[in-house]
Amino acid sequence: MAKKAKTAITPTRTEDYTEWYQQVVRASDLAERSPVRGCMVIRPWGYALWENIVRELDDMFKATGVKNAYFPLFIPLSFLEKEAEHVEGFAKECAVVTHHRLEKGPEGGLVPAGSLNEPLVVRPTSETIIGDSFSKWVSSYRDLPLLINQWANVVRWEMRTRIFLRTSEFLWQEGHTVHATDKDAIERTRLMLDVYAKLAEEYLAIPVIKGTKTPSERFPGALDTLCIEAMMQDRKALQAGTSHFLGQNFAKASDIKFHSAEGTEEYAWTTSWGASTRLIGGLIMTHGDDDGIILPPRVASSHVVIMPIAKKPEDRSKVMEYTETLAKELREKYYHHRRIQVEIDDRDVGGRGWDWIKKGIPVRVEIGPRDIADNSVFIGTRDKEYKDRSSLKRDQFVAEITNILDEIQDTLFQRALTFREKNTIIINDNKQFYEFFTPQNQDKPEIHGGFSLSPWCGSEECESKIKEDLSVTIRCIPFDNEAEKGNCICCGKPDSKQVIFAKAY
Ligand code: AMP
Ligand code: ZN
Repeated sequence: MAKKAKTAITPTRTEDYTEWYQQVVRASDLAERSPVRGCMVIRPWGYALWENIVRELDDMFKATGVKNAYFPLFIPLSFLEKEAEHVEGFAKECAVVTHHRLEKGPEGGLVPAGSLNEPLVVRPTSETIIGDSFSKWVSSYRDLPLLINQWANVVRWEMRTRIFLRTSEFLWQEGHTVHATDKDAIERTRLMLDVYAKLAEEYLAIPVIKGTKTPSERFPGALDTLCIEAMMQDRKALQAGTSHFLGQNFAKASDIKFHSAEGTEEYAWTTSWGASTRLIGGLIMTHGDDDGIILPPRVASSHVVIMPIAKKPEDRSKVMEYTETLAKELREKYYHHRRIQVEIDDRDVGGRGWDWIKKGIPVRVEIGPRDIADNSVFIGTRDKEYKDRSSLKRDQFVAEITNILDEIQDTLFQRALTFREKNTIIINDNKQFYEFFTPQNQDKPEIHGGFSLSPWCGSEECESKIKEDLSVTIRCIPFDNEAEKGNCICCGKPDSKQVIFAKAY
């Protein structure tokens, strides 16, 4: 048997994908578990990544006229109750505040006291509390559209949590807009989905499929939920962002009315849309390899690490000076309206290069006395194998850095796209469909599953039968192949629309 190549992460993706994910998150310094159930600590390396995502999204929102605001963390229970489907949808996962102080209890420890007249729900989403403000802000058609976004944390008491992908507390943005017509609201829903798709594809290098959720997967209270879906390297789907058309449901619940140009009073039409720290989980699972994570340069926590090598003490000052000058020069340059971020790692430890590989930094540079004598640098890029490194003239490196970063960005996107295309097939036959999603050989689960494009008649019955039989769900009704029709993969009903089936996170 051939000797297995040593990898920085154990187990590898093919050995145990779930465990690989946990290990890779840990080794990358992005985040760690906290003493609080289902809540994570986002470490500086992870938070810098989040900040870059926030900045790109925030710029894109503002370019469409959206303005930021902030609303309370607590929602009075009666507010949440205003929209029946909404409260039912979130009731099972709410953290509720019932007391407002602590007192010494009979056992000596502190116990909650001073019960609240009305319990407060820690926001799982803010339609109802924001709706209250909107009802006061909107009175005439001239106030519309109202385009608001909030950057916040929310709490959903999830039963099965997974760092970044599904946590009890997560960071996100929630956009909330109000419109005079259903047409305007629907247009906005689509527009914000396009923004998410742009962020995913052009910044996170994650190819996504845009589409509509089936009624059973809709946001509670929405008339329509649009989503972007991505394929992870275990061929499961990840919902990476959602945009909801809320019709007049929430306007009626929160009494958001306006006087039209004709003088009539009407309920407004609203939308909401959100993306969360889950995006980081998606990024890890799309690009990570058996040596750690790989950060797409456009959102990377940092772009370049320089590792000076000075084995002899007399070389040290010369090497450090050369390093500092190079770092300074790089930091003066821009990569996608962000200054190039440079780390200097002068720790005298073995394996420091591997630390940066695990952290996914796009470019590693080594500088020793010999490189200085030759006026060159030794570079490795994270999209390639560790051994695939090369020497470059220093000035050429500085001149080329943005191209090098662009190349990495492209490689990551193309690689992910190729992977998704390779693992997406059209299936019109029920038997083939069941085979596709049933691992036949436990040793080779990788040859099964992926995205299946198959016809669905639109009935909840067929949808839930497939879910029960195979743990496979309809990820979305994609916009792109709306014309594709066939016999329902479950009941055989003709003229059924093609949808995407997959196992999902
Ligand atoms: P929703 O309001 O349910 O449409 O969710 C908005 C966004 O938050 C979606 O893009 C989800 O992917 C994400 N999201 C929902 N629940 C969680 C969770 N428990 N942890 C992290 N992200 C989440
Ligand atoms: Zn059917």
